[in-house]
Amino acid sequence: MAGYLEARPRVGYFYSGKSSSQLLTEQLKHYIVKDYQSHPVILKSDVTVYDAICAIFIEDVGTLFIVNEDNDLVGVCSRKDLLRASMAGQDIHNIPVHIIMTRMPNIVLLEEDDLLLYAARQMISKEIDSIPIVKSKGDGKYAVTGRISKTTITKLFVSLFDQ
Ligand code: ADP
Repeated sequence: MAGYLEARPRVGYFYSGKSSSQLLTEQLKHYIVKDYQSHPVILKSDVTVYDAICAIFIEDVGTLFIVNEDNDLVGVCSRKDLLRASMAGQDIHNIPVHIIMTRMPNIVLLEEDDLLLYAARQMISKEIDSIPIVKSKGDGKYAVTGRISKTTITKLFVSLFDQ
């Protein structure tokens, strides 16, 4: 199962000749986001910035996914978005989170069968910490089903080393 040995009928097992790093590279090509996703923290778009800050602390996440009344993804709100709104001197008890979030269609999305490697590349190239995993509802609408974050990738990196 580790890939060091291969089997052929009437030959038996033999050394595949592949190095650990070759095997690791091959393995990474098969990891899909569905198998590593974590729980998404989802808020309605009309909650206040104050409540969004509370959710970040209570749920211990860096990014919130924002949905409308039909539970369609409409935006993403990160720690920096919340800090920016707080520093602007506005009344965070009265501003709804949809005013300060990054909104659709500018959200980077993942579908269940996307490669984890693709998710990691998106995080690096778009300079973001977290990506929602979505299911299409048609008409450009999406339901949020999971989340991949930089922590997901870091945990996988360490688990591969430990193996
Ligand atoms: P932080 O703000 O805590 O550094 P990020 O680096 O993830 O977190 O966010 C940087 C900016 O990118 C924020 O304005 C945020 O709204 C936006 N952002 C975060 N995740 C996504 C995403 N998946 N797609 C598009 N924009 C995102």
